Amino acid sequence: MDFFGGVEAGGTKFVCAIGTGDGKIMKKTTFPTGLPAETIGKAIDFLKDERFPLTAVGIGSFGPLDLHRNSPTYGMITKTPKKHWQFVDLIKPFGQALGIPVVLDTDVNAAAFGEAVWGGADKLESLIYLTVGTGIGGGAVVNGRLLHGLVHPEMGHIRIPRHPEDKDFAGICPFHGDCLEGMASGASMAARWGVSAETIPANHLAWDIEAHYIAAGIADLICVLSPERVVLGGGVMKHPGLLDQIRKRTLNFLNGYIYSETITERIETFIVQPALGDQVGVLGSIALAVKQIDF
Ligand code: ZN
Repeated sequence: MDFFGGVEAGGTKFVCAIGTGDGKIMKKTTFPTGLPAETIGKAIDFLKDERFPLTAVGIGSFGPLDLHRNSPTYGMITKTPKKHWQFVDLIKPFGQALGIPVVLDTDVNAAAFGEAVWGGADKLESLIYLTVGTGIGGGAVVNGRLLHGLVHPEMGHIRIPRHPEDKDFAGICPFHGDCLEGMASGASMAARWGVSAETIPANHLAWDIEAHYIAAGIADLICVLSPERVVLGGGVMKHPGLLDQIRKRTLNFLNGYIYSETITERIETFIVQPALGDQVGVLGSIALAVKQIDF
């Protein structure tokens, strides 16, 4: 049997797993993100296991990342606010220690890929994965391939129309103020309301505003990329009822213009939570390793 490694490299925690080619996890561990050498060393130690000789390893990482093969900083995290992690090479240490191919992509692209490959009965050719947590980020599979571009998409920083009852809040993005992340991330909710998102009661205006912004962002992304499914992950999305509000508002924003029953008749199967649940990041990373040939 072939085994594949997956590393979900997050800013606060690393999730590592070994799985099979059909996404079954054999073993898994989670530990806090510390200094680079120590953290990467821990991940490598976990992946080196005589019982499960690996064919390849996939890494879905926080960014920004340099994913251009001909660039001198290829495989590195670039200008992250996490100072110790700036220009840390993720590909080389895993490649050298394990002697197998290493596939690196953004955490959100890895999640998008996992959902496209293993998230439903049919393999989808086009899908958006948007995470709404402390920050907001998105990845996309387009025509069966992961979307990269000049750097990689930054879906959290698109501009969105203001909620009519949210005129004064300036937004918290240090670059744009009131971009999507600036207005709708968990951190922005905490800044606007003075309490963390999970403690805001269900009937509070905060959730109406939140659904408005996320739906506005999704409607924009649907118009640009025409995905076959939109998957919403991240801690803020665990709030009961939010997903349904987002579906309704997305339909309102689109206003019948996108002519597809997938959206107009089956929105509840079009905008969904991750089928892979909380494992989406690490399973997506394993999927990168399994399907490395596709890149
Ligand atoms: Zn921004």
